[in-house]
Amino acid sequence: MQNRADVDDSYEDERSWQRLANCLGVDPDLFFPERGVSTREAKEVCRGCVVRSDCLDYALANGEKFGIWGGLSERERRTVRRARAANSGRGGAASA
Ligand code: SF4
Repeated sequence: MQNRADVDDSYEDERSWQRLANCLGVDPDLFFPERGVSTREAKEVCRGCVVRSDCLDYALANGEKFGIWGGLSERERRTVRRARAANSGRGGAASA
């Protein structure tokens, strides 16, 4: 059984990639725009982010429904999720 410190460490490890995120210090509203507002600026921040794949994997694993994660919108992540599900159903390796 995990104690509280182990759980906290596990949570920290799971999100340790965030320390290298390009979006650190960037206005979070940019990544959660109102419907119909451009996501271009947020995606520009994500474009050169070294933890982009970690971010996308985290969002997919945690079912993040809103915002830009890993440089992808909600709709784009749904497409990736479906493709991965279809791919895993065929016994293939999942990839974005
Ligand atoms: S991919 Fe984008 S949202 Fe994710 S950590 Fe990098 S800059 Fe932030």
